Amino acid sequence: MAGLSERVKACVRDDVARLAPYDPNFTPCKINLSANENTYGMPEEVRSAINDAIAATATNRYPDPMSNELRDLIAAWHGVARENVCVGNGGDELLFNFFLAFGGPGKRLIDCPPTFTVYDIYSKMLGTNVVRCWRDPDTFELDMDALLPLAASADMVIVTSPNNPTGNIISVADVERLCAACPGMVMIDEAYAEFADEGTSCESLLATCDNLIVLHTYSKAFCLAGVRVGYVLAAPDVIDVLGAVRQPYTADVFAQAAAEVVTKMREGFAPTIATIKSERERLAQALSAIDGVGVWPSQGNFLLVRLPQAGAVRVSLRDDRSILVRDFSQAPGLEDCLRITVGTPSENDELVAAIANILKEAQ
Ligand code: PMP
Repeated sequence: MAGLSERVKACVRDDVARLAPYDPNFTPCKINLSANENTYGMPEEVRSAINDAIAATATNRYPDPMSNELRDLIAAWHGVARENVCVGNGGDELLFNFFLAFGGPGKRLIDCPPTFTVYDIYSKMLGTNVVRCWRDPDTFELDMDALLPLAASADMVIVTSPNNPTGNIISVADVERLCAACPGMVMIDEAYAEFADEGTSCESLLATCDNLIVLHTYSKAFCLAGVRVGYVLAAPDVIDVLGAVRQPYTADVFAQAAAEVVTKMREGFAPTIATIKSERERLAQALSAIDGVGVWPSQGNFLLVRLPQAGAVRVSLRDDRSILVRDFSQAPGLEDCLRITVGTPSENDELVAAIANILKEAQ
């Protein structure tokens, strides 16, 4: 995607002129393992219930601006009150609103790269000052000794757990230390929490840490990436400020109806989530058995791999095999890395065979 034109740059603020359009490099492909979606698709009984709910949904009235029915279902699920829940048009919108409310000129964010780049993009859009606390270059674990003192003078800290694209988690004890150290807000982005080990979510801390915000999405484990629904859990006054900056009707009637059904029928996703977790381990073993391929352990539904000529391998997968994976080979700290979403067993088999062949041909 091209950068901004000179004509447009002359018309916008300096900080906007410095932005580059976000390009997730989407290309239609036979096997798409590039965006960490649930490639198994919606369980049939859930899909059918969503269809019924949508058929019964009127479109002539505005949606409930606060999605209160959905908030109540989410609150019951997580053992909190409606006042602790804010629903948004995907996690991305909630992240944007987080920056709108707590970031901006004069505010400081601590970011922990390599991580989800949207945080960096939103901070630039809104003029937030970013301080980077780099993860360990080999293991991608957080450097808590560096992070805690930085958090002490921060307005915002974001940690992704499981981290995208490296798969690491932050322990509940470390989240607690972070919340105690930081006078501002601590956002833990748990977009991939459903794929992590039992007991790794920091949600239990919401009762005691009033500066903790936990982000969730229906886009990954719950197969609603195309519908756009996410939510955050936080103290009521934090939810109020997020409510103050949000646009009122971002969760439309279909999105609310679909998310309500999914929430009620969430047990129906457990078998697929278990399969994705076991496929993750099988895929990791198969990839690391290929000469020259390194694989990091992951608690998400994706794997970070390092291999020779990763950028060229990605292009060959896409152009010669119609398999799409995400290229991080040019990203700082992720040289020669690709991120691969865990797919169905046959998608994973095809991917492994393709990578093995490409690397063999290159020898
Ligand atoms: N957080 C992380 C770490 C993500 O990887 C993503 C999606 N790529 C999101 C939040 C936002 O997801 P969505 O907007 O689909 O809810």
